[in-house]
Amino acid sequence: MDQQAIDLHKFLPKKKLFITIIVLIIGIAVASTIALANANSVIVKASSLNVRIGPGLSYDVMTQVNENQRLNVLDEENQWYKVRLSNDQVGWVAGWLVENDEITSENQKYGRVTGKEVNIRQYATTDSAIMGTVFENAELSILFEENDWYQVLYLGKVAWIHKDYVEVSESPSTVPTEEVSSTQEVVIGELQSNIRAIASTEGEILTAAEPNARLIYLGTEDDWYKVQLEDGRTGYVANWVSSLSNVDTVNVQEVEKQVSRAATNLSEAIIMIDPGHGGKDPGAMSSTGIQEKDIALSTAKILKRRLQDAGARVMLTRDDDSFISLNDRVYLSHKASADAYISIHFDAMEEANSMSGTTTYYYSESEKALADTVNDYLAQNGPLTNNGVRLGNYYVLRNNAQPSILLELGYLNNDVDISMVSSQSYQSTVVESIYQGLRDYFSN
Ligand SMILES: [Zn+2]
Repeated sequence: MDQQAIDLHKFLPKKKLFITIIVLIIGIAVASTIALANANSVIVKASSLNVRIGPGLSYDVMTQVNENQRLNVLDEENQWYKVRLSNDQVGWVAGWLVENDEITSENQKYGRVTGKEVNIRQYATTDSAIMGTVFENAELSILFEENDWYQVLYLGKVAWIHKDYVEVSESPSTVPTEEVSSTQEVVIGELQSNIRAIASTEGEILTAAEPNARLIYLGTEDDWYKVQLEDGRTGYVANWVSSLSNVDTVNVQEVEKQVSRAATNLSEAIIMIDPGHGGKDPGAMSSTGIQEKDIALSTAKILKRRLQDAGARVMLTRDDDSFISLNDRVYLSHKASADAYISIHFDAMEEANSMSGTTTYYYSESEKALADTVNDYLAQNGPLTNNGVRLGNYYVLRNNAQPSILLELGYLNNDVDISMVSSQSYQSTVVESIYQGLRDYFSN
């Protein structure tokens, strides 16, 4: 079961939801303002303002902040402010609501990881929890220094890394790919807006853009966005009547999915295995106390070994009993450019013994081939009944730009299933099925 998969997205078509969010944001922008307290912090004047995981309207909302809340500004990018909340979470708020040009990213420092494999910790001490691992040459945004530690941004959260393993520079060594201009659009607000020949209200009006129109973003000049018109001309639209957004992720997904099928052999492929749940989230549970999170992890670890033996590059979204948000799981998939993302789950029904067996879920039509190929072997090799391939509106599938499937590998409150699922032999059998499926998928 995946309770976390149920959210607002389920009840609205993606596009409609996206537009609704834009309308809401613009509504907030018009109805209220954010006032700048000083160069390093802003105070929220709106009754409620979305904080997003990235600098653009297409990023998920991580939380909301309320009126009069003070946010520390860490960085600025494309008219968005990276802010730290009082609980140390880091997110982004729409900066075009703030009339401010003092903040620049000039004092932003970057760290390059010099150790082979370095732990990222929750606090500035080796006693604190490990949030993850970074590898040599990884680049991190440095937020603060404290004694022997740097506070850094890790998967959108504030975390710490020991100074011994980091080399600091003033600028990132590589341009982040998400800053490529072709991935951004200027979205016109709720009113028709003039496109002018120069970046000034004195400029000649070339044309008027319709409400909610999306134009290709070419650059920023003062308070103006340079855009490309449909007839090929370029013009400027004021940033107070428009906003910068990432191109609809659906298009990006299509491109990435085509590219990622370039792997023609399992040994060339990057596989991200996602053991469901973990930490404070146990998932489904049997009457005898077997928890979904534990058997998902043990199955995932066997699968990792099997795929590595076949030459694949394999990663896990978690390799211990830690809580990883659904958003971070998807982030890891994108970051790794996974050729396949396999989420491992076990199920439970409200009524015991009402269901049995395995089911394979996919979300996009382009993922059906992957789902079918893996499921054929699950059905063929058993030992449990196979319930076929189904559409599943799960967060880790829906938001995943990489080819992704979710496997439910048995019911924890079915007497037959529970007698098998925690055994090594069952887990090895389903792992062999997944391996065979992936092998065929990549060679076809
Ligand atoms: Zn689950």
